Amino acid sequence: MSRVCVVGAGVVGLSTALCIKLQHPSVSLTIIADRFFESTTSDGAGGLFRPDERFIHGVDKSILRNWCQTSFDHFNNLIFSNISAEAGISQVSGYQLFNDPRPDPSYKNIIYNFRYLTKHELEIFPDHYKYGYFCTTLYVDTRKYMKYLTKLLTEKQVTFTKKKINTLEELAESYDIVVNCTGFGAKELCNDNLIRPIRGQVIRVRAPWIKHFYYTDDNCYLIPNNEIIVLGGTRQLDNDNTQVDLNDKDDIWQRCLRLCPSLAQAEILWHWAGLRPDRKPIRVETEIIKYGNKKLLVVHNYGHGGNGIALSWGTAVDATRHFSSLLNAINIQDKQVTSKL
Ligand SMILES: Cc1cc2nc3c(=O)[nH]c(=O)nc-3n(C[C@H](O)[C@H](O)[C@H](O)COP(=O)(O)OP(=O)(O)OC[C@H]3O[C@@H](n4cnc5c(N)ncnc54)[C@H](O)[C@@H]3O)c2cc1C
Repeated sequence: MSRVCVVGAGVVGLSTALCIKLQHPSVSLTIIADRFFESTTSDGAGGLFRPDERFIHGVDKSILRNWCQTSFDHFNNLIFSNISAEAGISQVSGYQLFNDPRPDPSYKNIIYNFRYLTKHELEIFPDHYKYGYFCTTLYVDTRKYMKYLTKLLTEKQVTFTKKKINTLEELAESYDIVVNCTGFGAKELCNDNLIRPIRGQVIRVRAPWIKHFYYTDDNCYLIPNNEIIVLGGTRQLDNDNTQVDLNDKDDIWQRCLRLCPSLAQAEILWHWAGLRPDRKPIRVETEIIKYGNKKLLVVHNYGHGGNGIALSWGTAVDATRHFSSLLNAINIQDKQVTSKL
């Protein structure tokens, strides 16, 4: 039985672990992370399926399309099953508003009801944006979704260990394959200077009357989930401060209030700041790390920036493909050794 370790328990680590376990039920799998659930970046994310290629660099177009489609199909299947409430996945429709013309997003044929806004619709908004789309997409309530993934993993005998890993090599004696899903943690763990923080701050409010999402090109957004609405946001490159900033708090509130004046009646619940683990390109690949005369087999899956929820299942499937190749190589090697004995 091969011993496998997934490092990272955000949405990417949990999805990748589940994907591996579904394809290779007999592997012994442990998830190691120093932070779980509410202390991960995934927990605070907006959760909208809107994989905007303007912020995804260096990924081949056909690969990106494949990740988007695979993720969308996965979430969509959950919506139209009897567990959508437990998994926290729902459909949401809304408006994207902007002032400069831009090419159509590549995900327009993956989501539903994509169409340009009419002049009449654009006039509803106080700032009179010049362009806009309307579409129906997906919302992932990551707090529920990560609990749902954890339940499935536990049922499949996956074990969880809370621990900080300082080097991937320290796992070499205990595991045959290591899967690295450490998000922004990969910067330190792998000395990866391609990964950079993009700080985002949000406010959660109770405003059950808001049913649509709104997203403007100056990064002002409202994303509804039942009664709770996520208000954002900021995109601050190379700012790694995870504390809530008072100026950002006021700025987000004022911009969202201008876009949607009825927020004045909303109950403010909590503020949160997190780091989008931005990497150009997102790293989904195999690495064989040599140390001394030994080798460690690694599959990397990190650096999803502001699209880690949207792309989580698609990249997990891809990472599992890399994992299967490594597992195959180990099995062939084992058979050769056994046949020589
Ligand atoms: C404000 C904001 C809004 C966002 N909105 C959206 C959105 O609407 N849609 C969308 O798709 N994405 C959104 N994102 C992006 C999304 O949150 C991230 O891309 C995603 O959460 C990354 O997931 P992850 O599992 O890679 O990382 P994380 O959730 O950060 O998980 C990393 C895991 O690795 C572990 N780890 C790291 N280093 C080590 C180590 N050395 N040893 C042990 N464990 C380690 C951590 O403990 C943790 O368990 C948003 C992000 C922010 C900040």
